[in-house]
Amino acid sequence: MSLDLDIHLQRGRFTLEVQVTAPAGVTVIFGPSGSGKTTLLRAVAGLEAVDRGQIVIEGSDMTERPAHRRAVGYLFQEPRLLPHLNVLGNLKFAQKMGREVAPQSFDEVIALLELGDLLERTPFALSGGEAQRVALGRALLSAPKCLCLDEPLSALDQGLKHRILPYLERLRDRTDIPILYVTHDAAEMARLADHIVLMQAGRSVLS
Ligand code: ADP
Ligand code: MG
Repeated sequence: MSLDLDIHLQRGRFTLEVQVTAPAGVTVIFGPSGSGKTTLLRAVAGLEAVDRGQIVIEGSDMTERPAHRRAVGYLFQEPRLLPHLNVLGNLKFAQKMGREVAPQSFDEVIALLELGDLLERTPFALSGGEAQRVALGRALLSAPKCLCLDEPLSALDQGLKHRILPYLERLRDRTDIPILYVTHDAAEMARLADHIVLMQAGRSVLS
Protein backbone atom coordinates (compact mmCIF):
# COMPACT_ATOMS: atom_id res chain seq x y z
CA MET A 1 0.00 0.00 0.00
CA SER A 2 1.22 3.48 -0.68
CA LEU A 3 0.33 7.10 -0.97
CA ASP A 4 1.35 9.01 -4.09
CA LEU A 5 1.14 12.75 -3.82
CA ASP A 6 1.61 15.47 -6.39
CA ILE A 7 0.20 18.61 -4.85
CA HIS A 8 0.21 22.21 -6.04
CA LEU A 9 -1.78 24.82 -4.20
CA GLN A 10 -1.62 28.52 -3.51
CA ARG A 11 -2.95 30.23 -0.35
CA GLY A 12 -2.34 33.95 -0.46
CA ARG A 13 1.41 34.32 -0.85
CA PHE A 14 2.16 30.76 0.22
CA THR A 15 2.74 28.08 -2.41
CA LEU A 16 2.78 24.36 -1.64
CA GLU A 17 4.51 22.19 -4.25
CA VAL A 18 5.10 18.65 -3.10
CA GLN A 19 5.79 15.36 -4.83
CA VAL A 20 6.05 12.53 -2.36
CA THR A 21 5.51 8.79 -2.31
CA ALA A 22 4.81 7.41 1.13
CA PRO A 23 4.95 3.62 1.40
CA ALA A 24 3.45 1.63 4.27
CA GLY A 25 4.94 2.65 7.60
CA VAL A 26 5.60 6.05 9.09
CA THR A 27 6.71 8.91 6.89
CA VAL A 28 7.73 11.77 9.14
CA ILE A 29 7.13 15.23 7.71
CA PHE A 30 9.76 17.41 9.30
CA GLY A 31 10.34 21.11 8.82
CA PRO A 32 10.13 24.54 10.40
CA SER A 33 6.90 26.23 11.39
CA GLY A 34 5.16 27.70 8.37
CA SER A 35 6.82 25.31 5.89
CA GLY A 36 3.47 23.83 4.88
CA LYS A 37 3.27 20.58 6.85
CA THR A 38 -0.30 21.08 8.07
CA THR A 39 -1.43 22.36 4.67
CA LEU A 40 0.02 19.21 3.08
CA LEU A 41 -1.87 16.89 5.45
CA ARG A 42 -5.07 18.88 5.04
CA ALA A 43 -4.77 18.59 1.27
CA VAL A 44 -4.34 14.81 1.54
CA ALA A 45 -7.42 14.60 3.77
CA GLY A 46 -9.50 16.79 1.44
CA LEU A 47 -9.74 19.68 3.91
CA GLU A 48 -7.87 21.93 1.43
CA ALA A 49 -8.55 21.93 -2.30
CA VAL A 50 -5.54 21.54 -4.57
CA ASP A 51 -5.08 23.74 -7.64
CA ARG A 52 -3.60 20.85 -9.55
CA GLY A 53 -1.99 17.52 -8.92
CA GLN A 54 -3.06 14.11 -7.80
CA ILE A 55 -3.67 12.35 -4.51
CA VAL A 56 -3.59 8.60 -4.95
CA ILE A 57 -4.19 6.34 -1.99
CA GLU A 58 -3.69 2.64 -2.49
CA GLY A 59 -4.13 3.01 -6.22
CA SER A 60 -7.39 5.00 -5.94
CA ASP A 61 -7.38 8.57 -7.18
CA MET A 62 -8.90 10.61 -4.34
CA THR A 63 -8.22 14.05 -5.81
CA GLU A 64 -11.82 14.82 -6.69
CA ARG A 65 -13.39 13.14 -3.69
CA PRO A 66 -14.72 15.09 -0.72
CA ALA A 67 -13.05 14.63 2.66
CA HIS A 68 -15.60 12.17 4.02
CA ARG A 69 -15.07 9.81 1.07
CA ARG A 70 -11.27 9.69 1.15
CA ALA A 71 -10.79 7.13 3.93
CA VAL A 72 -8.14 9.30 5.56
CA GLY A 73 -7.92 9.13 9.35
CA TYR A 74 -6.86 12.48 10.75
CA LEU A 75 -5.47 13.29 14.16
CA PHE A 76 -5.08 16.94 15.07
CA GLN A 77 -2.80 18.48 17.66
CA GLU A 78 -5.69 18.42 20.11
CA PRO A 79 -8.10 15.48 20.32
CA ARG A 80 -11.45 17.11 19.31
CA LEU A 81 -13.68 14.40 20.78
CA LEU A 82 -17.44 14.81 20.70
CA PRO A 83 -18.15 16.26 24.16
CA HIS A 84 -21.69 14.88 24.56
CA LEU A 85 -20.66 11.25 23.99
CA ASN A 86 -18.55 9.08 26.27
CA VAL A 87 -15.43 7.32 24.98
CA LEU A 88 -17.39 4.28 23.82
CA GLY A 89 -19.85 6.57 22.03
CA ASN A 90 -17.03 8.47 20.33
CA LEU A 91 -15.44 5.24 19.11
CA LYS A 92 -18.71 3.68 17.92
CA PHE A 93 -19.63 6.87 16.11
CA ALA A 94 -16.34 6.83 14.20
CA GLN A 95 -16.85 3.18 13.34
CA LYS A 96 -20.31 3.95 11.98
CA MET A 97 -19.01 6.84 9.90
CA GLY A 98 -16.32 4.68 8.28
CA ARG A 99 -17.37 3.49 4.84
CA GLU A 100 -15.78 0.11 5.23
CA VAL A 101 -15.09 -2.27 8.06
CA ALA A 102 -11.80 -1.40 9.75
CA PRO A 103 -9.07 -4.01 9.26
CA GLN A 104 -8.67 -4.09 13.03
CA SER A 105 -11.70 -5.10 15.02
CA PHE A 106 -13.13 -2.90 17.73
CA ASP A 107 -11.60 -5.14 20.38
CA GLU A 108 -8.20 -5.08 18.70
CA VAL A 109 -8.15 -1.30 18.66
CA ILE A 110 -9.18 -1.18 22.31
CA ALA A 111 -6.38 -3.59 23.17
CA LEU A 112 -3.79 -1.86 21.00
CA LEU A 113 -4.37 1.52 22.66
CA GLU A 114 -5.41 0.18 26.08
CA LEU A 115 -8.75 1.97 26.06
CA GLY A 116 -10.74 -0.66 27.94
CA ASP A 117 -10.83 1.18 31.24
CA LEU A 118 -11.79 4.50 29.64
CA LEU A 119 -14.94 3.50 27.74
CA GLU A 120 -17.48 4.92 30.17
CA ARG A 121 -15.67 8.22 30.71
CA THR A 122 -16.71 11.48 29.15
CA PRO A 123 -14.06 13.41 27.22
CA PHE A 124 -13.65 16.07 29.92
CA ALA A 125 -12.72 13.37 32.44
CA LEU A 126 -9.72 12.25 30.36
CA SER A 127 -6.14 13.43 30.65
CA GLY A 128 -4.55 14.92 27.54
CA GLY A 129 -2.75 11.70 26.75
CA GLU A 130 -5.82 9.53 27.27
CA ALA A 131 -7.89 11.79 25.04
CA GLN A 132 -5.26 11.63 22.33
CA ARG A 133 -5.26 7.81 22.52
CA VAL A 134 -9.05 7.83 22.13
CA ALA A 135 -8.75 10.18 19.16
CA LEU A 136 -6.23 7.81 17.61
CA GLY A 137 -8.57 4.87 18.23
CA ARG A 138 -11.34 6.79 16.58
CA ALA A 139 -9.17 7.45 13.52
CA LEU A 140 -8.33 3.73 13.26
CA LEU A 141 -11.94 2.59 13.56
CA SER A 142 -13.01 4.75 10.64
CA ALA A 143 -11.25 2.18 8.40
CA PRO A 144 -8.63 4.55 7.01
CA LYS A 145 -6.47 3.75 3.99
CA CYS A 146 -4.04 6.36 5.24
CA LEU A 147 -3.45 8.14 8.55
CA CYS A 148 -2.50 11.80 8.91
CA LEU A 149 -1.15 12.66 12.35
CA ASP A 150 -0.38 16.36 12.77
CA GLU A 151 1.91 16.89 15.77
CA PRO A 152 -0.23 14.50 17.83
CA LEU A 153 2.04 14.73 20.88
CA SER A 154 3.00 18.39 20.80
CA ALA A 155 0.35 19.47 23.31
CA LEU A 156 1.51 16.88 25.85
CA ASP A 157 4.21 17.22 28.47
CA GLN A 158 7.42 15.22 28.17
CA GLY A 159 6.30 12.43 30.51
CA LEU A 160 3.04 11.84 28.69
CA LYS A 161 4.82 11.91 25.35
CA HIS A 162 7.00 9.06 26.47
CA ARG A 163 3.99 7.07 27.60
CA ILE A 164 2.20 7.51 24.27
CA LEU A 165 5.14 6.83 21.97
CA PRO A 166 4.98 3.05 22.54
CA TYR A 167 1.34 3.06 21.36
CA LEU A 168 2.39 4.79 18.17
CA GLU A 169 5.25 2.34 17.65
CA ARG A 170 2.87 -0.54 18.12
CA LEU A 171 0.46 1.02 15.66
CA ARG A 172 3.25 1.40 13.11
CA ASP A 173 4.29 -2.22 13.55
CA ARG A 174 0.78 -3.69 13.38
CA THR A 175 -0.82 -1.82 10.49
CA ASP A 176 0.21 -1.74 6.86
CA ILE A 177 -1.26 1.62 5.92
CA PRO A 178 0.87 4.66 5.17
CA ILE A 179 1.08 7.07 8.10
CA LEU A 180 2.04 10.72 7.55
CA TYR A 181 3.39 11.99 10.85
CA VAL A 182 4.17 15.67 11.34
CA THR A 183 6.56 16.58 14.11
CA HIS A 184 9.39 18.94 14.81
CA ASP A 185 10.65 16.82 17.68
CA ALA A 186 13.85 15.03 16.65
CA ALA A 187 13.42 12.32 19.30
CA GLU A 188 9.95 11.42 18.02
CA MET A 189 11.30 11.35 14.50
CA ALA A 190 14.14 9.05 15.48
CA ARG A 191 11.79 6.58 17.15
CA LEU A 192 9.00 6.49 14.63
CA ALA A 193 10.29 7.30 11.16
CA ASP A 194 10.63 4.68 8.46
CA HIS A 195 10.97 7.51 5.93
CA ILE A 196 11.54 11.22 6.25
CA VAL A 197 10.32 14.12 4.15
CA LEU A 198 11.95 17.44 4.87
CA MET A 199 9.79 20.48 4.14
CA GLN A 200 11.06 23.97 3.54
CA ALA A 201 9.02 26.96 2.36
CA GLY A 202 6.26 24.80 0.86
CA ARG A 203 8.53 22.30 -0.89
CA SER A 204 9.78 18.86 -0.04
CA VAL A 205 13.52 19.41 -0.21
CA LEU A 206 14.54 15.90 0.76
CA SER A 207 12.69 12.60 0.81
P1 ADP B 1 3.25 24.30 9.25
O1 ADP B 1 2.19 23.30 9.60
O2 ADP B 1 4.45 23.69 8.62
O3 ADP B 1 3.63 25.16 10.41
P2 ADP B 1 1.15 25.51 7.65
O4 ADP B 1 0.82 24.50 6.63
O5 ADP B 1 0.24 25.67 8.78
O6 ADP B 1 2.67 25.28 8.15
O7 ADP B 1 1.25 26.93 6.94
C1 ADP B 1 2.06 27.13 5.80
C2 ADP B 1 1.96 28.55 5.33
O8 ADP B 1 0.68 28.78 4.76
C3 ADP B 1 2.13 29.58 6.43
O9 ADP B 1 2.96 30.58 5.96
C4 ADP B 1 0.70 30.09 6.64
O10 ADP B 1 0.75 31.41 7.07
C5 ADP B 1 0.13 29.96 5.26
N1 ADP B 1 -1.34 29.76 5.21
C6 ADP B 1 -2.01 28.73 5.67
N2 ADP B 1 -3.32 28.85 5.40
C7 ADP B 1 -3.47 30.01 4.74
C8 ADP B 1 -4.57 30.74 4.17
N3 ADP B 1 -5.82 30.26 4.25
N4 ADP B 1 -4.33 31.92 3.55
C9 ADP B 1 -3.07 32.39 3.46
N5 ADP B 1 -1.99 31.76 3.96
C10 ADP B 1 -2.19 30.60 4.59
MG1 MG C 1 1.28 22.80 11.41
